[in-house]
Amino acid sequence: MSAAASARQILKNLHEVMASRMHAQGKLDRVAEIVGESLSSEVCSIYLLREGMLELFATRGLNQSAVHVTRMAIGEGLTGTIADNVETLNLAEAKAHPDFQYRPETGEDKFHSFAGVPIVYRERAVGVLCVQHVDPRRYEEVEIEALQTTAMVLSELIANAELVDEEEARGLSEGMTGQQTVNGLTLVSGLSAGNAVYHQPRVQITQVMADDIEAERQRVYLAFDKMREQIDTLSSQAEFGVGGEHEEVLETYKMFAYDEGWSRRINEAIDSGLTAEAAIERVQQHTRMRMREIDDPLLADRMHDLEDLANRLLRIVSGQLGTAASQGLRRDTILIARNLGPAELLEYDRRRLKGVILEEGSLTAHVVIVARAMGVPVLGRASGIRGIIRDGDEILLDATAASATIRPTNSVAEAFEARFAKSREKQAAYASLRDVEPFTRCGTRIQVMMNAGLRDDIGSLAMTGADGVGLFRTEFQFLVSATLPQRERQLRLYRDVMDAAGDKPVIFRTVDIGGDKSVPYLATEDANADENPAMGWRALRLALTREGLMKAQARALIEAGGGRSLYVMFPMVSEPWEFDAAKAVFDEQLAFLRTKKKLLPDAIYYGAMLEVPALAEMLDLLLPKLSFLSVGTNDLTQFLFAADRANPKLAQRYDWLSLSIMRFLRRVVNSSVGTGVDLGVCGEMGGRRLEALALLGIGFRRLSITPAAVGPIKELVRKVDLAELGEAMTGWLADPSVNLREEMTAWAEAREIEVDG
Ligand code: PEP
Ligand code: MG
Repeated sequence: MSAAASARQILKNLHEVMASRMHAQGKLDRVAEIVGESLSSEVCSIYLLREGMLELFATRGLNQSAVHVTRMAIGEGLTGTIADNVETLNLAEAKAHPDFQYRPETGEDKFHSFAGVPIVYRERAVGVLCVQHVDPRRYEEVEIEALQTTAMVLSELIANAELVDEEEARGLSEGMTGQQTVNGLTLVSGLSAGNAVYHQPRVQITQVMADDIEAERQRVYLAFDKMREQIDTLSSQAEFGVGGEHEEVLETYKMFAYDEGWSRRINEAIDSGLTAEAAIERVQQHTRMRMREIDDPLLADRMHDLEDLANRLLRIVSGQLGTAASQGLRRDTILIARNLGPAELLEYDRRRLKGVILEEGSLTAHVVIVARAMGVPVLGRASGIRGIIRDGDEILLDATAASATIRPTNSVAEAFEARFAKSREKQAAYASLRDVEPFTRCGTRIQVMMNAGLRDDIGSLAMTGADGVGLFRTEFQFLVSATLPQRERQLRLYRDVMDAAGDKPVIFRTVDIGGDKSVPYLATEDANADENPAMGWRALRLALTREGLMKAQARALIEAGGGRSLYVMFPMVSEPWEFDAAKAVFDEQLAFLRTKKKLLPDAIYYGAMLEVPALAEMLDLLLPKLSFLSVGTNDLTQFLFAADRANPKLAQRYDWLSLSIMRFLRRVVNSSVGTGVDLGVCGEMGGRRLEALALLGIGFRRLSITPAAVGPIKELVRKVDLAELGEAMTGWLADPSVNLREEMTAWAEAREIEVDG
């Protein structure tokens, strides 16, 4: 008999047993017989989990008196090891295995070979199916597959006959119980708590045995087609792209998706009588086992990719397509994913989404920019979480400390709650400042504005009491879109944003795409050739070359601003002529719209971002042209220090409070004094208390910051005497040996100004 035929025969026999009216125990006994016979094994045993122990429930070949007597702990003996690691063992000589344990009551001493597979239910091992043989022989692959198939059938039986206590099953495998800590990289800092929800829930296989093999074959064939199509689309879309690392993953996906061997093995499994879902899972189990035998971290990574892909195939074939977003979040949630696209993140209910843990992720990933804007803490680079976090687990996320506690003990939860409460208390105190204008102690009104990029962000204006939006990153719409947003779509967004902001000003920054914020629909050879993307063909440089893009945006902004004041800011201006060229595009569109008798803005205020150091030398020429100038300290400081802002290795190296940065910024302030140009800062720096204090100290009076920082900065402003601070600052900046951070911290503490929040 061929391998497929014999596998089919086993399944047929199992089918009959399962369909019979026999009692569950009777069925288990029969299964042990069928498997033992088919594999010519003297012994076939079934262990199931009961009260935390693996209990021998049925056997052919061992002493019957051992049934319901022999019990093994998880991790104990070969059986316990299989359940513990949820993995298959195939041993020619059982006794040679370090975990082997002899149980005299079973009478197993005469058997040499041993093979066992876990019986998996809801992703946990709830039992073990094993065979033993007198001769020392390794079982063949087809035999192992037959065991795996039988284990799947058994898991169906277990579910139907409620042979295993569900609660007990949940708590079984090592790593899935008790408190665990996961470490990673802070992508968006913050503190939050919630229950784990996997972005892509695992497919539940409800039917193992096929009724119609040909139909199953068709289903899997169509699913493969669809999956390949999806992977091809993914590789050509920006929405899911997060840079080079992701591209590599997609390449691997492609390799697997088109791998003939994989689809052939699935088809063979279907031939043996499995449903498409069970066949995919069975092949996957087998691959897992093979991969584990090869101890290579690179392969382990690839295994991860294949798991992802097999899951995708399962979702397609089973029709269980939705992500957790489509099912809706029912409670406070910490979302778990390998990676996410910005658009995927935006699908979640912001009220329930409390945090995100990613296995991958990097600081520059678009999803991180979006999460920051949403105020959702993100922990990235958290590897191995699938083996630790279960759906529904309680999680305390401390993204600031780059860690998360899974299933916290009561005392840890209490300590966290105390910290959390403190931070909430602070938040409440900040919230109470919402309607309080930020005047310094000496009576100077500081403009505290917020940064935004999404339509929904505008809600934070009212919540925080910010003075307006000092930086609206229009490129967010471009980043979350698979195709170039047409003028109409842009117009709608800008109009919505201005409507929602009411009387408060919104400074729209024209698109800052290109370089690392690449979008494929704009990709050209030039952009792709950038070796140094931050300094490459991006922002205004790109927009002025792609004039059509700039024109469309200019027209959309002018139309949206009809009947009100419009604020437009150009990013990455490096020389004054670039500002002129950009403004000329707006002037041209304005003239055009005037001829069309469109409602025009009452006034248009133009500004520039200062983020390229060279521009600071040209302010005498530039400032007379501007209404406002906004210093983008994120880019500016990376250019001043020639230190990539996204490189974690450099993140701690150069201080925003270095004398060089502060002296540079003070010169910018001095250049603007008396020009009537409204000067501000819109980089992340302004949202940190000590840094904000320094900026106030050198003369900045407008800060545009992340919404979460508006409250804390308002509170800080109210404690400051600018004259006193300015004087201290002058002294510090004059002394090249000073450690500004230390000096300022001491200065602030002496005045009971908190600086670490
Ligand atoms: C900056 O560079 O400081 C800035 C505000 O712009 P972005 O972070 O969007 O580059
Ligand atoms: Mg910038």
